Amino acid sequence: MRLVTFLRQGYVEPGILDGAQVLPLEHIDTLVDFIALAPEERAAVRTSAPLPLASVVLLAPVVPRKNVFCVGRNYLGHAEEVARARGSELKLPGVPTFFTKAPTSITGPEAVLQLSPAISQQYDWEAELAVVIGKRCRDVPKDRAHDVIFGYTCLNDVTARDLQNAHVQWFKGKSLDQACPMGPWIVSADEIPDPQALHVTMRVNGEIKQDASTAAMIFPIAEIIASLSAGMTLEPGDVIATGTPEGVGFARTPPEFLKNGDVMEVEIERIGLLRNSVALTE
Ligand code: MG
Repeated sequence: MRLVTFLRQGYVEPGILDGAQVLPLEHIDTLVDFIALAPEERAAVRTSAPLPLASVVLLAPVVPRKNVFCVGRNYLGHAEEVARARGSELKLPGVPTFFTKAPTSITGPEAVLQLSPAISQQYDWEAELAVVIGKRCRDVPKDRAHDVIFGYTCLNDVTARDLQNAHVQWFKGKSLDQACPMGPWIVSADEIPDPQALHVTMRVNGEIKQDASTAAMIFPIAEIIASLSAGMTLEPGDVIATGTPEGVGFARTPPEFLKNGDVMEVEIERIGLLRNSVALTE
């Protein structure tokens, strides 16, 4: 099942994608509300008259009630390129490095990212597989982690590198408005038999910048969920960005940052394509 959030005549609605049609979910306000239902309640939700996908504007599929959880340095190639670019020793973490992005940074698959060069001169891309939590849970053991996953989507962890470095703590450089494009939809977990065998790609203006398999994660999704949920409640609709592979802009030789008019495409096998263009404007 593919789930979307869309804008129709000024109203935000959740729906199911069926081919090139959207089936609006009746009497459900948001996709987070739908995800929070028990499976038998979800199955009983009715849909109203189908709309052509082309007639609606897709928004980020979910906006969680809290910050987006993220994992830093979760692919060896990326950890290595970061160490190389910073001239520091490669030290791999023993546990996942968690940070978050403000919910106000979330934007949709059709958004043009309005990024201000007065705020940052170093906007960068990060293609990531994002996990959407389906159940309220805590202390989830690794071998049960997949039971709490509702589905998956594409996420671009857009980062202002100069702010990330200047503020030491990553939050500010990761949380600017529109720095978290997500979508274009959520694919339910039953359609992804092995989330650790998905190809993740980032193209900028059609050129491949990142290209890896989720098999290369240092901490697989089950370990991320076990670690994050230890002593901390996760809720339906929570989003976890699972880290980016090598090929980000700042670690390239010479470094590359986003320019006005650039088009970023995060493509993840079995999930979809998240395309956002960039407008550098004051
Ligand atoms: Mg990231």
